Amino acid sequence: MKIEIKELELRTSDRIEIIDITDKIETIVKENYYNNGILILYVEHTTSAITINEFEPNLVNDLKKIIIDIFKPGGKWLHNEIDDNAHAHLASSFIGNSRTLLISSNRIVLGTWQRILFIELDGPRKRMIKIVYLGE
Ligand code: ZN
Repeated sequence: MKIEIKELELRTSDRIEIIDITDKIETIVKENYYNNGILILYVEHTTSAITINEFEPNLVNDLKKIIIDIFKPGGKWLHNEIDDNAHAHLASSFIGNSRTLLISSNRIVLGTWQRILFIELDGPRKRMIKIVYLGE
């Protein structure tokens, strides 16, 4: 079994931003000949997240809106007394900082509308995503 770890660096440009990283991950899969196996995407931060969903502009705006409505940037969170980004830590905890993908015949197995979305919750920042392949 082959085990490989790669990194993908992202520069975000907004406080809350959703970036479609599917093409970048697909390129890594193709260029490294990942054929059949599992790919783990792991975001090494406490104020960003990763999910899989449709990258439709209205849905992207709805997703940003629900993050703001639920996690309330600037709200009366205790962590905001130290560091004004409690909303980002809370949203990251609920959305999650990793996803597992299936790789089949050198392609990521995704449904028609599924895209891999990186969620910046306290940008703009430089971000790093670990990409771990386990397979053949
Ligand atoms: Zn903080």
